[in-house]
Amino acid sequence: ATNGQATNGQPAAAPRVRPAGIALFDKVKAYDIPAKIKAAGVWTYFRALESAQDPEVYIDGKKLVMLGSNNYLGLTNDPRVKEAAIDAVRRYGTGCAGSRLLNGTMKIHEELEEKLADFMGKQAAVTFSTGFQVNLGTISCLLDRRDIVYLDKQDHACIIDGARLGLGEIRKFRHNSPADLRRMMQADEASDAGKGGGKLVVVDGVYSMEGDICPLPEIVDICKDYGAAVMVDDAHGIGVLGDGRGTSRHFGVDDDVQLIMGTFSKSMASVGGFVCGDRETMDFVKHRARTNMFSAAPSPANVAAASIAVDIMKTEPERREKLWKNTQFMLAGFRALGFDTADSNTPVIPVVVGEDFTAFAMATRLHQEGVFVNAVVSPATPPGRALLRTSYMATHEESHLSFALDKFAKVGREFGVIA
Ligand code: PMP
Repeated sequence: ATNGQATNGQPAAAPRVRPAGIALFDKVKAYDIPAKIKAAGVWTYFRALESAQDPEVYIDGKKLVMLGSNNYLGLTNDPRVKEAAIDAVRRYGTGCAGSRLLNGTMKIHEELEEKLADFMGKQAAVTFSTGFQVNLGTISCLLDRRDIVYLDKQDHACIIDGARLGLGEIRKFRHNSPADLRRMMQADEASDAGKGGGKLVVVDGVYSMEGDICPLPEIVDICKDYGAAVMVDDAHGIGVLGDGRGTSRHFGVDDDVQLIMGTFSKSMASVGGFVCGDRETMDFVKHRARTNMFSAAPSPANVAAASIAVDIMKTEPERREKLWKNTQFMLAGFRALGFDTADSNTPVIPVVVGEDFTAFAMATRLHQEGVFVNAVVSPATPPGRALLRTSYMATHEESHLSFALDKFAKVGREFGVIA
């Protein structure tokens, strides 16, 4: 009697259909972009591009100089990379229809893993469908109950989430502060915390928002003192630093970094990710990382694109050289204009502007002037330290960059960010 009418002389039953998730969806109803930003019409997220990730992009038919892409080597629209992806689709089809563990492994996955291991100077590599899944799955499967993981406070979200999914304890040290890490490890040793367990330190090689490099030699030194393993997320370092092999190669500490992860979504012109290290650990990760075991293998097109991107990284150092030339040009240009570029010394250059609203409003004005930049606000930055994240490609020409600097000068003055 779900219609509430009495049957057989019994009292009417309470209605069985209750509105779904009243409290659950309260937050959905309450969710809105901040009123000031909404009223000013300066929300710059989810802009839809009508073209590839090139130095010039089109939005609503309007041409903009792209200073917001992670396509560092400019390969996402390279004819050779596109052709390789198309070939892979012809041979292997559009999807893998299963996880690596079961039916999803194709010859090209194995070939790419061997190529990546060889390129990175490690025994083995495991590919995943995204970089996010690499960290989520790898870090969590390595952390047992007595283990401790030490994270830099600015580590990427997927490192933090991977650590949270693991069973170990989490410590967070001050950003790029080896001294703070040492203090924590000392304290743990003195208090017998994690006794009998292992220690893992996870850092970004290049921090994704402010483009500063991790002081890896000091971190490695501390880890040696305390018997900790080191994992570097080199999403923004591979293809860019150290002959393209990333941050640990840049500092010459490869042999003291046990695990390196990379993504295909930046220099490698694709989507997916990998982790590399010694054979035994990679075998464990392959069999235990849940984001690998229970998720479909990276698609043939993505694998083929990443694979040829590695070949190109190896054989065309001039791309990296051009990327660095562009980076130096922009760092010098911003500083000459009086902008605060924080501690960046990589192709990720932040322009610190202050309040969240200023970042959105400036990004909108730059968009109107023909420059695409990303507004980065709290909680991704500390409050009052909102920034415009700019990033560079090997395919930018000086004309693009000069144009962008002129527009930055104009808009920066409008907002009183520079004099
Ligand atoms: N690590 C870092 C430092 C990143 O910046 C990103 C992507 N923004 C990831 C991991 C995740 O990579 P993916 O985009 O392949 O999921």
